[in-house]
Amino acid sequence: MKPDKKSIEAKCPACGRETLLLRKPLYEGFTRVGEELSCSLCGHRFADEESPEYIERSGPAVFSEADRPAEVKVFSEEDQPSFCRHCGHYVVNPFRQWCSRHKKEVEATDTCRDFFRRAEKEES
Ligand SMILES: [Zn+2]
Repeated sequence: MKPDKKSIEAKCPACGRETLLLRKPLYEGFTRVGEELSCSLCGHRFADEESPEYIERSGPAVFSEADRPAEVKVFSEEDQPSFCRHCGHYVVNPFRQWCSRHKKEVEATDTCRDFFRRAEKEES
């Protein structure tokens, strides 16, 4: 994975220390052809952007797992409510959702006392 441009701290394989990477633009004549990354401590040159073992800092600027919006709760197989979409009577096609037992249109999230769990998930 290509690291964030701001990740300039890395572990240097040459001197084994945590170091700041130095970026030096590389020119071919007057054309900029890329950047050379090197260790600020020992001068070791990295072959490319992917070479350095970047150090990831967790800090205020970095979002942690806890900052992410809460995931929609996923029901386990047993906890699934009696929604029509899990029901064996539920028939769906591009135009409508249909209850084959009550012969009426339903919503996927409707519930029903005649609900029976479909044996296995049908792939459409
Ligand atoms: Zn080094």
